[in-house]
Amino acid sequence: MSNDQSAMNELHWLIDMVQTIEVGLVVIDSDYNIQLWNGFMENHSGVSPNSIKGDNLFEKFPDLPAKWLKQKMESVFLLKNRTFISWEQRPYVFQFKNYRPVTGRADYMYQNITLLPLASLTGKITHISIIVYDVTDIAVNKLQLKAANEQLELLSQTDGLTQLYNRRHWQDCMEKEFDRYARYGDTASLVMIDIDNFKVINDKYGHSAGDKVIQHTAYLLKQALRDTDFAGRYGGEEFGVVLSKTTAEDALNFTERLRKRIEASEVSFENRLIKVTVSIGINDLDSQIDNISTWLSGADKALYIAKQEGRNKSVIHQ
Ligand code: GH3
Ligand code: MG
Ligand code: MG
Repeated sequence: MSNDQSAMNELHWLIDMVQTIEVGLVVIDSDYNIQLWNGFMENHSGVSPNSIKGDNLFEKFPDLPAKWLKQKMESVFLLKNRTFISWEQRPYVFQFKNYRPVTGRADYMYQNITLLPLASLTGKITHISIIVYDVTDIAVNKLQLKAANEQLELLSQTDGLTQLYNRRHWQDCMEKEFDRYARYGDTASLVMIDIDNFKVINDKYGHSAGDKVIQHTAYLLKQALRDTDFAGRYGGEEFGVVLSKTTAEDALNFTERLRKRIEASEVSFENRLIKVTVSIGINDLDSQIDNISTWLSGADKALYIAKQEGRNKSVIHQ
């Protein structure tokens, strides 16, 4: 075989590979006119190489993020460096429908893109190659994993019976609130709520009824919260609430509204109506509180006094 013939053969094979490779290949010139459009691009866009050659990329595909992509391309022409665009930065550049059955959840093909400068024999960058990788499988897996992790984290912070924060997470949040106070002087009120004579409810109606009373109380509590407040299940039938940027007097307004709402409500369990009341201790942050233990124990003492004074009552720690 002559040298010419073998060079022709190589060229033929190369063109074959470019056409059939499972990667999108596009070549554009400095006016964004399309010089090459391979089989992958044809399959996913429905536009054949013959019908598109010489056409302007952005006129042919008005959905492309033109301003953003032109900026990237200009810098490739100018700096002669390749540029990489990840699906995490922008899920796709070419809007191709996703047909893969395994990853049926994605509407569009996720893409990683490389912009490769192509030099002429004189070393000048006259063209750019756009290389398009279908990374739908990887992207969907990663997104599903991320969603699962978020779900797990939420579960690890949530009390199963009431869907309030569990004790550990609530205490973490409380500590952060205390740090905000220590750093910026933002006050906050700590509220401890304990159901009155709960043992009697358990004894009289059974443990399941008791659980329902806990859920009911937690539900009314949740309804009373503002976005910036957070509540947790501190113990069996005891709840902790942090009211941010709230003085003890304003906290008392909050707890009295909640206390009366709980007192007025009824829990129905197996055709019986159960009445429930709560006692509440309040402690707001001041200069005498230098850690979260003293903050907590102040609220506990106030709660104890509320119990002593006959229950169904809110008391501010003095
Ligand atoms: P007080 O008014 O002084 O608070 O009286 P009390 O009967 O409520 O006393 P205490 O708060 O000490 O009682 C808590 C009881 O709650 C003890 C425990 O048997 C019960 N308990 C703790 N956790 C749960 C739970 O998850 N479900 C049910 N049903 N009962 C629980
Ligand atoms: Mg109790
Ligand atoms: Mg208790």
